[in-house]
Amino acid sequence: MKREGQITVDSENLFPIIKKWLYSDKDIFIREIVANACDAIKKYRSLCQIGEAEDNGTAPRIDITLDTNAKTLTVADNGIGMTEEEVEKYIAQIAFSGAQEFLDKYKDQTDAENGIIGHFGLGFYSAYMVSENVEIETLSYQKGAVPVHWESDGSHTYEIADGSRAAIGTSIIMHLSEDGKEFLSEFKLREILRKYCHFMPYEIYFHVIKEESADTSSDTKDTTDKTPEKPLNNTTPLWLKAPKDCTTEEYEDFYRETFTDMNLPLFWIHLNVDYPFRLKGILYFPKQTDKLQVMPGEIKLFANQVYIADNIKEVVPEFLMLLKGVIDCPDLPLNVSRSFLQNDGEVAKISRHITKKVADKLLSVFNNERKSYESYWDDISPFIKFGCIKDEKFYEKIKGIILYKTINDEYKTFDELQKPDNKVYYVSNTDVQGQYIKIFKDNGLEAVILEHNIDAHFVTFLEYTESGTKFVRIDSEIGDALKSDESVDTEVNAEEVIHFFKEALGMDKLTIQTENLKTAETPAILTINEYERRMNDISKIYGNMFGEAGPASETLIVNTANEIVRKLKDFEPDKRNLLCRHIFDLALMSQRKLTAAEMEGFMLRSVQVMSLL
Ligand code: ADP
Repeated sequence: MKREGQITVDSENLFPIIKKWLYSDKDIFIREIVANACDAIKKYRSLCQIGEAEDNGTAPRIDITLDTNAKTLTVADNGIGMTEEEVEKYIAQIAFSGAQEFLDKYKDQTDAENGIIGHFGLGFYSAYMVSENVEIETLSYQKGAVPVHWESDGSHTYEIADGSRAAIGTSIIMHLSEDGKEFLSEFKLREILRKYCHFMPYEIYFHVIKEESADTSSDTKDTTDKTPEKPLNNTTPLWLKAPKDCTTEEYEDFYRETFTDMNLPLFWIHLNVDYPFRLKGILYFPKQTDKLQVMPGEIKLFANQVYIADNIKEVVPEFLMLLKGVIDCPDLPLNVSRSFLQNDGEVAKISRHITKKVADKLLSVFNNERKSYESYWDDISPFIKFGCIKDEKFYEKIKGIILYKTINDEYKTFDELQKPDNKVYYVSNTDVQGQYIKIFKDNGLEAVILEHNIDAHFVTFLEYTESGTKFVRIDSEIGDALKSDESVDTEVNAEEVIHFFKEALGMDKLTIQTENLKTAETPAILTINEYERRMNDISKIYGNMFGEAGPASETLIVNTANEIVRKLKDFEPDKRNLLCRHIFDLALMSQRKLTAAEMEGFMLRSVQVMSLL
């Protein structure tokens, strides 16, 4: 006999609103329904263990069946099941009132981004995001229980009657609506099952029933399931295993299985905490494929093997998002909004713990395997630098193991670097600054290579944090560093040389000075004021927000060790002017690309210089 009931909350207007809110993330209904099935199995297993329920001998399993003819999606479990009272209570009252509570809480928040995030589910009710009608067939484990059938279209009434289920457990039959028709695609379903259910704790089998042939003359429809009997999930993900029992191969296989990355990870951290909170997971340091850009990582967050979301920055510090990994944290209050997570002390503790573990691992690799650490450095440095900028505590912990790659291909710590006058010389582009690198090498000087996008910020950060240290680009303020030992060269009149260049170039703003450099073949180099250049770079990005930034002032350092410079005085004024101009062009070219007009002038003068031969 059918019994009718009234859903106790005023849900008439609920459904369309929630549906709209969660519209962009309808997929989560699958997680909610399958996670409920897992919970039901877990409850039943626990009762069997303590002797409260009789074990019916079946292995725990969940069967998900897509019937494209009937347009239904069924999730069946062999868990605890429900009695009629329980259906009334848990489904009609609790599940629906949960939805009401949700609405009450978030009704004033019109911006879905700031309010509830689609990731946090609504339990059973979320089935209505994709269904016009939902049926439940259930049989409780309790002795003498009778099967129950419940049905509702998600409005304020439902029907409850005796059901037909013979085995203990529950089937949720979703009649897919117009909004849910994309889930009639087997491909789409497999994709979301992989996303949300891939590591759920009980075996999940997926079946598809579809009309086999278009032969309408026959009434027989092939509805047999051709799917092989193989669960689609991995019920014992590696993060659950004790770290000491995991092999390198297992870590690598798990990485490949979970993240689509052709490269193997460099190394990893296995997190395993029981107290004061429960946290398990594996964080991998990926190989960077782009030398200049930071590649985004992927941190998947789970609660008891149920996928919650990617990259939740409240739980995982932002800079760790460059890693790839899985984190399973059963204690997280994940059914609440993100703003709650942000203010939750426990969540902050978890985040700090993860950061500490990462720092510890890096220190251990540095201290025990310095050579490997050096070989990883180019890949991990963007991530570490980003971390330092974002989190001062992290920086404090690992600042001694930040490496700097020098122009001589060595990896040194900050303390190991040459720092004449507290200056660290750096290269921001090895191609463009090739000439300067050569001069540095010839003169036995050291410079570090900082050409990643993050390095400009990192340099500013270091100068701010480590006051007293200055980072100077290799093409600026290098006169002092390059000075030859024989500073007085009696054969060349420096004043005279400067005068020659001043006259030839006629550039008032250009400072000209002489040095007796060790690199004799280079007649002159051009340097730019470091501070002004940086201001210029900033204004290129942000406009003139911080005031007008004029062109950075430049200095031409003429090398009195160079043969041609030494002979300048022997030329007639016209030819000398031509040579000075040409020397300047060469210096300019090794600093930057010439403009079209500059190039034209250079070509012309080149021909004139040749005629001097
Ligand atoms: P939550 O899972 O957060 O409690 P739900 O709306 O998903 O909320 O479910 C409400 C209740 O309905 C559950 O707590 C559970 O008691 C019951 N329930 C849902 N699905 C099942 C199932 N497959 N088997 C047994 N009980 C279930």
